[in-house]
Amino acid sequence: ASGSDDNDVVVIGGGPGGYVAAIKAAQLGLKTTCIEKRGALGGTCLNVGCIPSKFSEFLTLFKKTVSAAKALLHSSHMYHEAKHSFAHHGVKFSSVDVDLPAMMAQKDKAVTNLTRGIEGLFKKNKVNYVKGYGKFISPSEVSVDTIEGGNTVVKGKNIIVATGSDVKSLPGITIDEKRIVSSTGALALSEIPKKLVVIGAGYIGLEMGSVWGRLGSEVTVVEFAPDIVPTMDGEVRKQFQRTLEKQKMKFMLKTKVVGVDSSGNGVKLTLEPAAGGEQTILEADVVLVSAGRTPFTAGLGLDKIGVETDKGGRILVNERFVTNVPGVYAIGDVIPGPMLAHKAEEDGVACVEFIAGKHGHVDYDKVPGVVYTHPEVASVGKTEEQVKALGVEYRVGKFPFLANSRAKAIDDAEGLVKILADKETDKILGVHIMSPNAGELIHEAVLAINYDASSEDIARVCHAHPTMSEALKEAAMATYDKPIHI
Ligand code: FAD
Repeated sequence: ASGSDDNDVVVIGGGPGGYVAAIKAAQLGLKTTCIEKRGALGGTCLNVGCIPSKFSEFLTLFKKTVSAAKALLHSSHMYHEAKHSFAHHGVKFSSVDVDLPAMMAQKDKAVTNLTRGIEGLFKKNKVNYVKGYGKFISPSEVSVDTIEGGNTVVKGKNIIVATGSDVKSLPGITIDEKRIVSSTGALALSEIPKKLVVIGAGYIGLEMGSVWGRLGSEVTVVEFAPDIVPTMDGEVRKQFQRTLEKQKMKFMLKTKVVGVDSSGNGVKLTLEPAAGGEQTILEADVVLVSAGRTPFTAGLGLDKIGVETDKGGRILVNERFVTNVPGVYAIGDVIPGPMLAHKAEEDGVACVEFIAGKHGHVDYDKVPGVVYTHPEVASVGKTEEQVKALGVEYRVGKFPFLANSRAKAIDDAEGLVKILADKETDKILGVHIMSPNAGELIHEAVLAINYDASSEDIARVCHAHPTMSEALKEAAMATYDKPIHI
């Protein structure tokens, strides 16, 4: 790598934010180098996040594609379906077993193929790729300790920090990635734990809990807050929690972990009500700590060049992604905003568009969020609680999948579509979907909300029959008028 040549753009970090920024910059004609310490591109998302977590979903027989983020979710879902649902559809097996090493191998193959695919895209777009740990020596120079053991200095007129995030541990808990694991360890367990305790009821904890629950673990989720997934619409969240409970996931809300003892065979957790009170002991074979993620800037030398961060360590940027140091930019999980791969990608594109003198655009209020359990929960825009807090007069339109012909036909009809629209103008304010494939269905709503559509706009668009998408049309009808099928 000709790391010492002057670049127009240098990107530190090859995750979804960084690699997308690098490719886009090169496509815009800018000379670009991307520095990545991991030795593989794709960042948290591809290596230890979105993609491998989806592998258990593979068990849905009728889904051909293994979504990168969802390899484990897909595989475990297929197993669960084969074991518990297929007979109901008249498909019988004499026995169904889990081959965990094969499942993990499939996940690893998906990840390797995808990371290599990004290397291919770098070559195609002529992005220079330096494998090593980057550290600022000045606002336009990055010293890189390369993976091969050398050192090179990469210079650039513009430097984009895309170093992402890392697992947040809890005080008093040491993650050993064997019995006390982060999401990274939970993606690579060598045995199915009999009892799995998940600390934290955010989307990562629930997804990983679902994976192992489907494969046979008894899963208990301990959460300090009174609710699971705090960002979710309250009504949808209640239904979602009931659904997970039906799947035998147990919840201990308003509960804090005050002690962890892993000196014996398993792990003993000492729990206490969040408001204080009597302590109880919960035993587990494996404990997953999934209490959030924290921006990763260790060893980057931000203090050396004077880049400002907030109290949580996030790099502060303006609307053009520039930090307080001219020529130094930051994108993705390392800056404030939703910590999601697609948000990081949007940041990356917009940031280099600004650098290239064009106009970039990302609206964090319109970034969709998806929980890849089964059913999935997807949303865009505001929750009912947020709309109320704003004092906006609104209408709600709902439609249950129990009344949707496609969902009934495949006997997978748990969930609903909920649309919130402005009472006066009918402009869509928020859409929340719980259903199989909600993560795909939501994009019609994402498009609508980005174009300031009204619920009537969705209702008057012809939707193919029989599809799950018809539930969105019916919920839109219910928002300002009446639905047909309920
Ligand atoms: P990262 O992906 O963290 O990439 C940063 C990269 O920078 C890393 O590869 C790191 O090695 C490198 N780096 C850091 N410091 C240096 C340095 N000094 N020098 C060189 N390289 C450096 N998001 C979704 O949208 N959908 C999902 O389904 C989803 N599922 C997830 C499941 C799990 C289990 C986890 C943990 C996360 C999940 N996420 C998901 C979140 C998603 O992974 C992140 O939002 C996304 O990866 C952020 O992208 P990024 O480019 O900002 O940072």
